[in-house]
Amino acid sequence: MNIGKLELRDREESFINLNPLQTGGKTTADARKAIISYIDGYSICDWCKGALHITTEPDIAGFLGEVSDFLGMDSALPTNGCREAKFGVMHAISTGGSILCDGNMHYSSEVSAERAGLKIYKVPNNGEPEFKINPLDYAEGFENIKKETGKYPELALLTHVDGEYGNIVDAKEVGKICNDYSVPFLLNTAYSSGRMKIDGKKIGADFIACSGHKSWAAGGGNIGILAIKDGWQEKVFKPGTNWKSKPIEILGCSSRGSSLLALMASFPYVKERVEKWDDEVKKAQYLVNELEKIDIKQLGEKPKNHDLIKLDTPVYDNIAKTHKKKGYFLYYELKDKGIIGMKPGRTRKFKISTYGLSWEQVAYVAECFLEIGGG
Ligand SMILES: *Cc1c(COP(=O)(O)O)cnc(C)c1O
Repeated sequence: MNIGKLELRDREESFINLNPLQTGGKTTADARKAIISYIDGYSICDWCKGALHITTEPDIAGFLGEVSDFLGMDSALPTNGCREAKFGVMHAISTGGSILCDGNMHYSSEVSAERAGLKIYKVPNNGEPEFKINPLDYAEGFENIKKETGKYPELALLTHVDGEYGNIVDAKEVGKICNDYSVPFLLNTAYSSGRMKIDGKKIGADFIACSGHKSWAAGGGNIGILAIKDGWQEKVFKPGTNWKSKPIEILGCSSRGSSLLALMASFPYVKERVEKWDDEVKKAQYLVNELEKIDIKQLGEKPKNHDLIKLDTPVYDNIAKTHKKKGYFLYYELKDKGIIGMKPGRTRKFKISTYGLSWEQVAYVAECFLEIGGG
């Protein structure tokens, strides 16, 4: 269907979507209703009390309290996304020193640190084929930075689950090292919170950044959460000098619209779905086991502990060499079978996600990939 020249989108409704960016942000029916009802500009401000995060109609203030409990943290603010949460922390903390990050960090962490004036150092991953981050390397990283600059870094960042391989790092181990060195610890949970349980207290995180549109079944725009531990409010949630209710790191009020309502409407569902995380991991492992029966290899840690699966697929690459549709054959053959979410033209290495699929759908996806590969 079209509106003028604009083609309306039809994916989740008609296909099995495997795009890792999108599987955890698929909205609930309630979120869709909330989005429509708060679709007009500034409709979230009907009962403004001076700032978005203290608004009680709708009950944003109450929601933020529940969210920080859910994450095992002490307070939370809405942000425009995970990157804005990270940037807020980095900007509040930076005095132009350095930051130690994992080598699998997302580009948005890197540009945030750059914008906040922090010099970036990285803990390397262990290379092919697992690309794992060893938590213990954070201690070595701190020492190297101290040797080079005379000071420990101002902040450490860990990508809990990276968006390239879907590897999970033991955040608690990193937290322990950060606490030993008294380096504040920012945990990026863009691919973890909202899918699996996160306990910031147990992990020893000072800050947790979340992505609502990636992993909390929210949409209608961008939405994130920044949760912090007690003791950081004054620095990170500091209000403007003349605007006592407006936190400066989120420019007073952040996500001023339906995406925040979507996050709130999906929250009861998210609280339930994190309990089913083990089953989500089993689905990913099942799919990998099936696909590796033909000339396909899973990259990243083994066995898989997350739904994001990176594959090396010589089998499809070989078919593409002689196929009349070249590298596009895979995309079209999958689409014919009702499966979407692959980058058109990719046949050698690509990422998929099984998050939220039923077991029947996972089995069907496996069957289709094997059939196309001639297995
Ligand atoms: C997607 C992603 C982000 C960005 O999230 P936004 O909410 O869109 O800013 C950050 N970090 C990682 C690891 C991601 O995968």
